[in-house]
Amino acid sequence: MKLHEYQSKELLAKYGVPVASGDVTSDASEVKAIADKLGGNVVVKAQVLMGGRGKAGGVKLFTSSDEAAAFAKDLIGKKLVSIQNPAGMVVEKVLVTETIDIAEEYYLSVLLDRGLQKNVVMISKEGGMEIEEVAEHNPDAIVKLVVDPSWGLSDFEIRAAVAKANIPKQAAGQMVQMIKKLVKVYEENDADMIEINPCALTPDGKLIAADAKVSIDENALYRHPNYEETSSDAADDPIEAEAVRRGIAYVNLGGEIGIMANGAGLTMQSLDEVNAAGGKPANFLDVGGGAKAERVKSCVELILMDKNVKGLLINIFGGITKVDEVAKGVLEAFSQMDVTIPVVARIEGTNVEEGRRILAGSQIIPAATVQEAAKTICELAYK
Ligand code: GDP
Ligand code: MN
Repeated sequence: MKLHEYQSKELLAKYGVPVASGDVTSDASEVKAIADKLGGNVVVKAQVLMGGRGKAGGVKLFTSSDEAAAFAKDLIGKKLVSIQNPAGMVVEKVLVTETIDIAEEYYLSVLLDRGLQKNVVMISKEGGMEIEEVAEHNPDAIVKLVVDPSWGLSDFEIRAAVAKANIPKQAAGQMVQMIKKLVKVYEENDADMIEINPCALTPDGKLIAADAKVSIDENALYRHPNYEETSSDAADDPIEAEAVRRGIAYVNLGGEIGIMANGAGLTMQSLDEVNAAGGKPANFLDVGGGAKAERVKSCVELILMDKNVKGLLINIFGGITKVDEVAKGVLEAFSQMDVTIPVVARIEGTNVEEGRRILAGSQIIPAATVQEAAKTICELAYK
């Protein structure tokens, strides 16, 4: 889960990483006061979870707090579009920081290298621009340092890597210290990525993180309850964000056939069968084990929030989950919504007779197998 820049910088500052002072707000009328307090030379930065904010017009330097405030007023509520995020994201908050005088821009990151199955530190003298560009045109300018999982990093290893990256002497010692702190932040907070780009060297020789992107491993979020609220607005898709709030495993896949199944395996199979029948799945949704009617209803509502959905496939194999609970939940959802799309259900397992009895006479078309269900729903939805 990506953290916003202001959250990332707060976290880094706690570990002693130098960052510019500033404040975040969603209220444009507060920007002038914040900028005045910082002395008027400020950068206004859109807090959206996407790369390339600078090029998208979301980062701007000011020498007057009035101009900074006017820019922020315009920026909040605006949708920013970048190469990394063509769908765009709406700006809800802005970070106002003291402007750093930048003489040189470097790149620093700590991330998980899945191939090596180890964490690595990446260092480059070519900061400021996208690291992918550097990797393509000047790969030798990126120095990679592998973190030994048992021993960690020794100072001499970090010093050698910083030297190999041709970081000038006046910045090298500070960079070694910064890398040690970043690795500590990374490990202690279950991060899977920290990126400082640019890592700025000021004309008077101070190294400061001018931007910060921290991402926390979602599987470890339960250990960091302070970030739980962010996890719902971190989702790019509004239905996925709602799914996080409801605690439902949902992924929007962009097709037309809504899918509600239980268990990741059966859900994947349902997606495959819809594809095989010539349809495009709208979503992945796993109702979860032992779901009660209330949760099933919540799942149906979620799937139908997607206005591209033209048909709904229900594929439930009752184990811990009881089929009659699923049937009740579906009908409850339908009784409160005006569902005009076709719905086909293949249900089997625990309490299936009771489940069939509940669904009999409803608008839901029964199917004996998932193949039949997929074929029927595609025929009805795409006709
Ligand atoms: P990104 O485009 O989303 O990576 O946002 P950044 O925070 O990296 O800002 C984009 C660019 O704005 C940076 O590469 C810098 O060149 C410039 N920038 C950001 N903050 C400052 C600052 O405090 N001082 C100066 N001089 N430039 C800045
Ligand atoms: Mn950046």
